[in-house]
Amino acid sequence: MQSDLTLEVPTTYDGTQLKIKVNQLNHERCCFVLDGVHLALANSLRRTMISSIETLAIDQVQINENSSVLPDEMIAHRLGMVPLKSSNMEKRVVNYNRDCDCDSYCHRCSVVLTLKAKCTEDRIMEVTTAMLVIEGEDTSGAGVGMPSIAPEREKGILLVKLGKGQEIDMRCIAVKGRALEHAKWSPCAAVGFEYDPYNKLRHTDLWYEVGTNPVDEWPVSGNGQYEREPAKDGSDPFDFNAKPSRFYFDVESVGQLPPEEIVSKGIDSLILNLASISRSLLALSDPDAAAAAEAEEAAAANPNANAGGGWNAGGGGGGGGWDGGPGAGGGAYGGYQPPAQGGGGYNYGGAGAQGGGYGGPQGGAGSGMTPAYPSYGGRSPAPGYGGAGAGGGYGGAQQQGSADDGW
Ligand SMILES: [Zn+2]
Repeated sequence: MQSDLTLEVPTTYDGTQLKIKVNQLNHERCCFVLDGVHLALANSLRRTMISSIETLAIDQVQINENSSVLPDEMIAHRLGMVPLKSSNMEKRVVNYNRDCDCDSYCHRCSVVLTLKAKCTEDRIMEVTTAMLVIEGEDTSGAGVGMPSIAPEREKGILLVKLGKGQEIDMRCIAVKGRALEHAKWSPCAAVGFEYDPYNKLRHTDLWYEVGTNPVDEWPVSGNGQYEREPAKDGSDPFDFNAKPSRFYFDVESVGQLPPEEIVSKGIDSLILNLASISRSLLALSDPDAAAAAEAEEAAAANPNANAGGGWNAGGGGGGGGWDGGPGAGGGAYGGYQPPAQGGGGYNYGGAGAQGGGYGGPQGGAGSGMTPAYPSYGGRSPAPGYGGAGAGGGYGGAQQQGSADDGW
């Protein structure tokens, strides 16, 4: 939801004053302000975006020929760092390579790219990522696994230079992974994160050399424009109980995913992590219900149940942007694809006519949603977390959520 921010930061941290304002969104960065949540939640989102989003990256390289000046290992390392398009990856690469039942790699757990180049002319030849070619047919239809090339860098990223007569011939196996294993899978170049630009809360000790002007040493960041400037003479009383409640994010994409998708998938991943805690607790407190939920999940994982389900980005209904406006079909914030009729993805508090939260109101049994989460309904007619939709809530428990719950 796009809303204008007041200069006063929210005084609550539980989401009752939740606001999101997107300040900048283009193909490489998404800057937004998140209002009214606890520091721990905002920081969790930051960490999740950095480390927990699945993308593709080259993990093995078969070197058939390399007569360039760079050693095999160095080229392999450079190939590993190449950003590969990972939107809609779920449609193409289903399994983690290590969990797949194939011998080394297969269509279900990898994308194979070839790189062949030979310099036959009397000049230096540049081998770039634009020369990486997917082996076989691109069955995803979305270029999953293709090198991501920024519009302003149409030649691609330089990998190696070849002199006359030099040649390289390589076969690269790209697999799914997350940055908590290796940074090459991180979709974020950086995630800027700031709160309290005037340091009113005194969380930072702004050290300065004696004889210098602290105001010059520590200029206020651009985010200062969103908050009330404190009195210059320092006469504002210090509030010992104040906590940060407004957070400034600056998500910069490497290229695997557009920045808005990084944010939505970061939130998805955070929710899944929290739900797995919830599920573990359920297994401890009520083993019967946990077993029932597991059976339901197994049914949902059956690909015949519903081709939809699962982790597909794109939301349903009206689609809608990340700011979750009041789209008629709900479905803002293309997050999870709702398995059945659900109004749509995340619906971040939007006033969508059909509401539909996370997983949609029909999330649950036999829907193909894995795991079967219920609706995280926004402020909408849809049921809240634990939804009362057909198939019930998480773990099959028919908890009745409040329509005002959630986002
Ligand atoms: Zn495999």
